[in-house]
Amino acid sequence: MEELPQEAGEEVEQPEVQPGEQIEEPPEEEPEEKNIVLPGDLIGTSEEFTPKSGTFVDKGNIYAATTGVVKINTRERSISVMPVTNVPPHLQAGDIVVGQVTDVKDSVALVEIASIKGRGEREIVNAEQAAIHVSNVKDAYVKELSSEFSPFDIVKAKVIDMRNMRLSTVNKELGVMKAYCSNCRTVLKRDNSKLKCPNCGRIETRKISSDYGTGIV
Ligand SMILES: [Zn+2]
Repeated sequence: MEELPQEAGEEVEQPEVQPGEQIEEPPEEEPEEKNIVLPGDLIGTSEEFTPKSGTFVDKGNIYAATTGVVKINTRERSISVMPVTNVPPHLQAGDIVVGQVTDVKDSVALVEIASIKGRGEREIVNAEQAAIHVSNVKDAYVKELSSEFSPFDIVKAKVIDMRNMRLSTVNKELGVMKAYCSNCRTVLKRDNSKLKCPNCGRIETRKISSDYGTGIV
């Protein structure tokens, strides 16, 4: 028998989608790889893909801007992240949340939400990743996001966009509640508009909440 060379079918079946039409997931098929990504996860490079919704580009790398499933359109060579909607049911836009800064990039600070204000201060069972965009930090121009937030900072922020899990600190009581010296890890003390390390004397800047150091959430 003649052996036909069989190339492995790399072609991914893509449903025909009319412009402006919502892509509907096939209802029956179990998704083979539910590749869930979190905000800030590296998902590709701008050389490989055109970044679409739910992504952001930083220095040629494409990152997830939202918690969701990575979708690659092989024809357009585009990549997007479809948001997943398993956010804690009681978290809503307008809620004030407290969380810890996990990473600070050029345009976003990533925050792991720990609790929601005014709901009995209940802990959120599945901590959610959220992001503060540079335009939502304060009511003034932000030159460097790293002058406003640092990893490990405890921040109080308002949920402004559930779909993309965006937070805002544009308000005097919002911002950093507790920060650590980047030199010696001591908790920084407020010194007027700046923060000072009582141990090594280092001065740092943050988008400080008016409740900094009070423990008041
Ligand atoms: Zn210090």
